[in-house]
Amino acid sequence: FVGSGTVSAEEAERTFIAIKPDGVQRGLIADIIARFERKGYKLVAVKILVPTKEFAGKHYAEHEGRPFFEGLTDFLSSGPVLAMVWEGQGVVTYGRKMIGATKPLESAPGTIRGDFGIQVGRNIIHGSDSPDSAKKEIGLWFTPEDLVSYGLDIHKWVYEK
Ligand code: GDP
Ligand code: MG
Repeated sequence: FVGSGTVSAEEAERTFIAIKPDGVQRGLIADIIARFERKGYKLVAVKILVPTKEFAGKHYAEHEGRPFFEGLTDFLSSGPVLAMVWEGQGVVTYGRKMIGATKPLESAPGTIRGDFGIQVGRNIIHGSDSPDSAKKEIGLWFTPEDLVSYGLDIHKWVYEK
C-alpha cells in the first residue's frame, strides 16, 4: 500500500541534498532530515557513501579551476556523505533557503548552515541551486530505480490540492 497523493515523476519537483562529511561526523543527519520532513517534503531516495575524489570533481564540475576546488573535492571524498532526493512543491528554492547562504556566517540563524557552521569550507550540506542542476545531480548520484514513488497520507494536510 503506497498511500494517496502520489504525483507522477514528471510532475514532481525534486532536489538533490547531500550532508557533507562534516555534517555526518558532527551527528547532524537526524536533525537535517527532520527539518525537511517536518516542512512537509518527502524523502524519495537516500544512501550513505564515501565518494571518490573523481566523483566529487564531477559533482562540483562547475567549480573546476577555482582556487578552492582541490580542497573541496578532497573534503567531499574524505568520509561518508549522506545523499538524498527530496520531493515537493518549491523544494529546490525553499531547500536552499532552509540550507542558508554559502558562507555560514552570512546565513541567517534558523538555517542549517546558520545554526551549525562557521567556515565556508565546512558548511555541512549541499543543495541543488536550480531545477536543472537538481536533475543533473540526481542523475549523477542515483539511478532512476533508486527513486521510490509513494504517496503520503499527510499530504492532504500539507497541500490544499
Ligand atoms: P553552494 O551552492 O551554496 O554550496 O555554494 P557554491 O556552489 O558557490 O560552492 C560549492 C561549495 O564550495 C560550497 O558549499 C563550499 O563548500 C565551497 N566553497 C565555495 N566558495 C568557497 C571559498 O571561497 N572557499 C572555500 N574554501 N570553499 C568554498
Ligand atoms: Mg552550488
